[in-house]
Amino acid sequence: MATEKLSDPSLNPPAPARRRLSAPNVIVLCGTVIALAMASLCALVLYQGRIDALDRARDTSRNLALLAERDIERNFELYELSLQAVVEGVQRADVMALPPRLRSDVLFDRAATARDLGSILVLDANGRIVIDSGSLAPRPGDFSDRPYFTAQRDHPDTGLFISGPYASRLRGGAPSIALSRRLSHPDGSFAGVAMIAINLEYFRNLFAGLSLGPHGAVSLIARDGLMIMRQPFDAKVIGRDISNADTFKRFRTADQGSFGEKSSIDGRRRLYYFRNFPTLPLIIMVAEGEEDIYAAWHRRAIIIGSSMGVLAIGFITLSFVLAAQFRRRMRAESELQLLARTDGLTGLHNRRTLGEILDQEWRRARRTRSLFSLLFVDIDRFKAFNDAYGHQAGDDALAAVARCIGDNIRRPADTAARYGGEEFIVVLPDTSADGAACIAEKIRAAISDLSIEHAGSEFGRVTASIGLASWQPERDDDVSALIRAADEALYDAKASGRNRVMQSSPA
Ligand code: GH3
Ligand code: MG
Ligand code: MG
Repeated sequence: MATEKLSDPSLNPPAPARRRLSAPNVIVLCGTVIALAMASLCALVLYQGRIDALDRARDTSRNLALLAERDIERNFELYELSLQAVVEGVQRADVMALPPRLRSDVLFDRAATARDLGSILVLDANGRIVIDSGSLAPRPGDFSDRPYFTAQRDHPDTGLFISGPYASRLRGGAPSIALSRRLSHPDGSFAGVAMIAINLEYFRNLFAGLSLGPHGAVSLIARDGLMIMRQPFDAKVIGRDISNADTFKRFRTADQGSFGEKSSIDGRRRLYYFRNFPTLPLIIMVAEGEEDIYAAWHRRAIIIGSSMGVLAIGFITLSFVLAAQFRRRMRAESELQLLARTDGLTGLHNRRTLGEILDQEWRRARRTRSLFSLLFVDIDRFKAFNDAYGHQAGDDALAAVARCIGDNIRRPADTAARYGGEEFIVVLPDTSADGAACIAEKIRAAISDLSIEHAGSEFGRVTASIGLASWQPERDDDVSALIRAADEALYDAKASGRNRVMQSSPA
């Protein structure tokens, strides 16, 4: 019954003004903002990590390409010197006059025995072997169809020619490339070629030593688009013309560079790094599989990202739980505060709160020089009521009377409080004596209209007497004098027959 009364807004003390952003909402907002900030920071760090992984891969590819290029260039320089020595030797009559073994020793230096070198041959104008590093008696064979021969025969200004891959006829089909130089008669006419065959095994071994990850690739490509060697090795790819592939077209756009692209050979996405050799018509390309580049990052991103996600969700959940607890505590505190300020039976302000309100309103009235009225309400012959109907019926009647009082005060500043026992005080700031008398009469009539049976009363029902006192700005009283005056007016109302409103006569 008490809570029912508390929930009646007309009886409850006015609720404190609601703040725009409550503390629990601030907790949730802060928790969410912090969690989002942590998640964003984590995403930023991971994104930076991804960029770093790509940069590292590009550096690695560049270093590997440079290493391979230097090795190839140094070897080609040696081969070219050997070839030059042969060209110069065959044009000297004294060298050509030497016995075959000695002539071979003079023409072919120790380079001819290098591991990856095929044969060094001198061919005549018809493409037949004249001098052979592999045999004292030149091996039979017609090489007039080979590009390293036809290029020198048909284009006198070719200089050093590097052929595409071919299967050697002298070395059981071993894949090779050849370097060739033209031999000319004194009149400039074509006399044949000197050539060095290089086993492709050399490039294969060189590339096999480079560590590129499971999906990496390294290729040596002739500038005209012929694939010379590729790691991972696939015999079918050697000699393939890739000049129409998008990747190859990009290799020709700059001396060196890097880009991400799908491979034309196996369809995998790779980060390509390419270099055009400065002195040879060759291109080296080193590519790392994107899945290899990001593998470590990916593992780390999954662990860190999911931990961060769980942490952020946990943090937000925690802030919600904390906010809910805070809200519960605030509600409990405000209920406690309300209970401490209200009278349990009637739901009106209690006497302690009345003291505070009276003090505050009184000082305001004096400061603003405004009117101030007070009602003292006392139920008539209530002792007799209790005696006749019992204490519980008395309590119910008290609550009903309190509701009548609460229902008849309208302005926000008007306050009703239980003064004690069956006595109530109504504080009416900014209200003249006439206005207060009007309210008092309404309260009196409302109580009488409750028609609660009271056999011990001369009216046969529960009634109340009301004493009224008003303060005018020109007077110099204090609040206790006003209460006293209302009490005296109440005494007059009792004395003059009860169930009436009496106004204290101005002093
Ligand atoms: P009067 O008309 O002169 O005011 O007579 P009265 O009987 O109302 O005055 P009195 O002061 O003699 O008695 C007040 C009675 O109010 C005493 C008590 O029985 C009753 N009373 C006071 N507080 C409570 C309460 O909380 N509950 C109940 N049931 N009765 C109360
Ligand atoms: Mg009394
Ligand atoms: Mg009484």
